[in-house]
Amino acid sequence: MRTRQTPANTRKPPSWDRDAACARLTDPEIMFPGNEPQAIAAAREVCAGCPVQRACLRNVITSEGARRGGARHGIVAGLTGHERWLVYRTLKRRGQLR
Ligand code: SF4
Repeated sequence: MRTRQTPANTRKPPSWDRDAACARLTDPEIMFPGNEPQAIAAAREVCAGCPVQRACLRNVITSEGARRGGARHGIVAGLTGHERWLVYRTLKRRGQLR
C-alpha cells in the first residue's frame, strides 16, 4: 500500500544529533558563559533558535533531577542552572515529575 506524501509527512522530526544548534557551534564553550551577562545572552540566543529546545528542556530537567543550582553547569534549553532548578522544583511541587 502506498501512502500519499504531503509536506507534513515528508518532513523529518527534529533529532538531537542532527538539529541541536549547540552541536554545530565552532566554539562549544559559548554554552558555558559563567556569570557574564552578555555571554549568558549569547548562549541563550543559540538556544532560542534551536528546533529541539522543548525536547532538550524535558531531557535536562529529568536528567539533572534534584541537583541544586550550583551543580548544574552551562546554559541548557535557554536556562541557567539555577533557572533549571527552579523549573524542576516547580514541576516537582505540582506533581508533574516523578
Ligand atoms: S536548546 Fe540549547 S542546549 Fe538544548 S540542544 Fe538546543 S542549543 Fe543545545
